[in-house]
Amino acid sequence: MAYAYDNENIFARILRGEIPCDKVLETDHALAFRDIAPKTPDHVLVIPKGAYVTWDHFAAKASDAEVADFVRAVGKVAQMVDAAPGDGKNGYRLISNAGTDGVQEVPHLHVHVLAGRPLGWMIRPG
Ligand code: AMP
Repeated sequence: MAYAYDNENIFARILRGEIPCDKVLETDHALAFRDIAPKTPDHVLVIPKGAYVTWDHFAAKASDAEVADFVRAVGKVAQMVDAAPGDGKNGYRLISNAGTDGVQEVPHLHVHVLAGRPLGWMIRPG
């Protein structure tokens, strides 16, 4: 499988420090920051620092250390926005859009952590 990574995508530029972000968490292999156009009261994006386009790209090519760090960063963000049901909170939703049908706007893997209000049904029939 060939994955073409665009070094000029906006999240690559955030990782290089060329444009600012509202940082929530940084780990060895991941960065989390608030979405610039939040769809929910808490809307945080978690991205790996490596050059990965989609979840399947990341799963195929990332090291075990990157995968573990990224997965834990997503879980940590859910706790940081005070949404984790294990803490008696109201929960959250994770979304990772990929490709054209997934309506992925930024071609650098990101997981949306959405929380802060009831989110409704997952998806409408197409
Ligand atoms: P997606 O459609 O899954 O690719 O989502 C891309 C997300 O990135 C959207 O929710 C945008 O609002 C968000 N976004 C785009 N540019 C920025 C930025 N500079 N800082 C934070 N979030 C951004």
